[in-house]
Amino acid sequence: MAEVPHCFNDIVGHRGAIRLLRRAVVSGSVAHAYLFTGQAGVGKFTLAHAFAAALTCLQPTPDGDPCGDCSSCRRFAQGAHPEVHLIAPYSEQTLIWQLWEGHNTPREAKPHQVGVIGRTINFAPTFGRRVVYILTRAETLTEPAANSLLKTLEEPPPYAVFLLLAPMLEDVLETIRSRCQWVPLQAVGVEEMAQWLEQRHGVSADMALRCALISQGCPGRAWSLATQPQALKLWDALADLAYQIATGRHGQAPALHLAEQLRTLASTDITTAEDADAPAEAGGKGKTPKRGALLLAMDALGAWFRDALWLSCGGGAQSIVYRGDEARLQEAASRLGTARLMHALNAILEVRRAVEGNANIPLATEVLILRLLG
Ligand SMILES: [Zn+2]
Repeated sequence: MAEVPHCFNDIVGHRGAIRLLRRAVVSGSVAHAYLFTGQAGVGKFTLAHAFAAALTCLQPTPDGDPCGDCSSCRRFAQGAHPEVHLIAPYSEQTLIWQLWEGHNTPREAKPHQVGVIGRTINFAPTFGRRVVYILTRAETLTEPAANSLLKTLEEPPPYAVFLLLAPMLEDVLETIRSRCQWVPLQAVGVEEMAQWLEQRHGVSADMALRCALISQGCPGRAWSLATQPQALKLWDALADLAYQIATGRHGQAPALHLAEQLRTLASTDITTAEDADAPAEAGGKGKTPKRGALLLAMDALGAWFRDALWLSCGGGAQSIVYRGDEARLQEAASRLGTARLMHALNAILEVRRAVEGNANIPLATEVLILRLLG
């Protein structure tokens, strides 16, 4: 995993959001809570992390960047800050006992996972200027957990700041939303991202453009594709699967078999942007594919079908993601036609959304294949 930037200058895109956050640091008028929204990999965690570094810094620069030298910044440089608390889902949910002690804590929970807010919020910071809580997937807060936060979000101690991360505004309860300043993050442009990969990460121009196109505006995703050859291989394998599904070349292989194939592909050991966005807490995981890799896989399928749709509408090959695969895309386009391709694309988007939430992975992949074949 790339080191998470501690500084706004290292972040690609998101200029408006960065301006807002810098202004808060410089003016000192910081909200009690912020809600960062945007698709997985767009940079919510990266931005929240840089903001946390600036908020805790004892002497931020006149631009609102962390100084890099104070006791707080030095803690950050060491990789962990005792006053910046990450709260990630436990078994896919963010539960009340993770926030406050004394709420049916499971026996296997580790001490550091329990009552993170309750244990720490009444202690003023000693290393830095503030205490920051980052809820990496606020959309997974259970209702009791969300309700237990309301009073604290409204009137936290003056040094405490909450940063909540979620895909969309609607994913978080209205009562939580209304207590947060909203920081929406948009997709980063293809050219800006390709340049960033090339200049900042030394990726070749060809590869940078391909990864930027594939990543759909998410730097975290572009970066994981550019730096992990197996990610691009997975991408190509999914083009093969999409082609089989779209043209009926899977022969007699039943839908369940294709779903299994999709899950196997998505079990490739890849670190994705989602994993960085939401470092998972250990908690009863089986051998299911990682959600991040499955989302990447579904995006690959989606991109392939979208390319076919684009060609079937008479679009030019220069705008497609799967450059070099035009012959197979064209075949799928003539076989399925615009309406069925739209139908397939909708199915992928809907199931993707369910997977990004908490859908059961085996079931979701089966539903997806059945809808694509239907
Ligand atoms: Zn500092």
